[in-house]
Amino acid sequence: MCGAAMLGHMAGGGQAVVSFGDIITPRAAAYNPRTGDFLAARQVGGYNGCGDNMNGIVKTFGSITSRQVAKAPLRARRLLRWAYRLTGAQARFFPRRRFLRAREGMMAAATASVANAMRQTPGAAIVNAFLPCEILHAMDIRPMFPEGMAVYFTAAASEQPFVEAAERAGVPESYCSYHKVLIGAAVSGVLPAPDVVLHTTLACDANRLTFARLAEHYGVPRFCIDVPNRETPQTIIYVANQLREMAAFLQQHTGRRLDEDALQAAVARSQRTILRYREYLRLRADTSVPTDMTGEMLPLFSNHVLLGSQAAEQYAHGLVRDIQRLAAERKPTRILWMHTMPNWQAALNDLFHRHRDLELVGCDLAYDALVDIDPRRPYEAMAQRLLANTLNGPAERRIDATLQMARQLAAGGVIYYNHWGCKSTMGAAQLAKKKLEANGFPTLVLDGDGCDSGNVSDGQQVTRVQAFLEQLGA
Ligand code: SF4
Repeated sequence: MCGAAMLGHMAGGGQAVVSFGDIITPRAAAYNPRTGDFLAARQVGGYNGCGDNMNGIVKTFGSITSRQVAKAPLRARRLLRWAYRLTGAQARFFPRRRFLRAREGMMAAATASVANAMRQTPGAAIVNAFLPCEILHAMDIRPMFPEGMAVYFTAAASEQPFVEAAERAGVPESYCSYHKVLIGAAVSGVLPAPDVVLHTTLACDANRLTFARLAEHYGVPRFCIDVPNRETPQTIIYVANQLREMAAFLQQHTGRRLDEDALQAAVARSQRTILRYREYLRLRADTSVPTDMTGEMLPLFSNHVLLGSQAAEQYAHGLVRDIQRLAAERKPTRILWMHTMPNWQAALNDLFHRHRDLELVGCDLAYDALVDIDPRRPYEAMAQRLLANTLNGPAERRIDATLQMARQLAAGGVIYYNHWGCKSTMGAAQLAKKKLEANGFPTLVLDGDGCDSGNVSDGQQVTRVQAFLEQLGA
């Protein structure tokens, strides 16, 4: 799932990248030490201060990269990787001061993880967003996951050739575009081969099809963790045993040894990360933070595939540190988002930035498994987190969790993002709207596509969101 949604931005064709959404040419670039941003010589306003200029350059990069996909996929891969590395370096060495420091640190870590996934070297696994990755971190194996990869491709305006390649290879048009883009990147030869493919059955119907297809395409072994939809002592043992088998499978197929102490340390880091993130959410109830869609999607990395890494723990600590430095006051209109965020879509981002009294307070995919676990029993702990996931089981569970979070974060309304092709999300849309509204949270069901830019209509979406915000008084 969706984990979906994340970030990125990059450059190309001899142009230097700047921050998320800001790509400018070296000649035009100047670093502004006051704001921490690069500035284009001719800024034209809009989101992140670059507007049409930035969009034009991203499109140029996208069209250069897209042309390479069919004729020179390895060159396309190098271009994308180079752009991601530049973006990560920018977030790391020139963090923008308008955002929290922790946000910029996580941006660098998330971008590095995507750039690393584009390396054709041993020690990589394609995983789905819910797979517990502590075992991978303990074995120094790089996770590559569809939602992260797909959103980065879209942020580079490069996803269309992958969508087309997947459809040419027989993937239906109605299939989830995160998975479609990943399959397209694989069959076009841009995405390097992993050592193994790992996934769960949790939440996403597309998992079994996509990951089986990828394993078959690359000719690598696959391991699937079956997650029952209820948490009981028996199901915890059942899933924990599968995780043990997965650890053995990884050792067998990568030739790397798993140090059980390192695994326990990684799970302990996960638990500390979750505790800190919960503390951040508690503080956020009374405090507005300078943020954007990308910022609200970063916890999808830290609370999923990067959970158990030092980067994720540093991020959670940094969020608490940074929010404690802000004044305890909040903007009047707070929106909670459900499901993936189209953070590459400038028109929507711009809407949230244009309103001074409006802020996004989170995304339900960031708090889907903030449960207490016992790191001394790492396999049971990871199993428990999978089973307790708010997306596991009936749709009401996810809706109730959002209701609770909407109350905690003092949200004024909810946007339920109906990502194209996500049957479980689309199927629960009206149920969610009904329950949230019955409890006092106006809800907009917004149809869109989190990563296929060819499948969205900016105008329609902006009109609907604007009307909703007006209804909330923003
Ligand atoms: S089908 Fe839904 S849950 Fe699965 S990857 Fe797509 S958006 Fe995520």
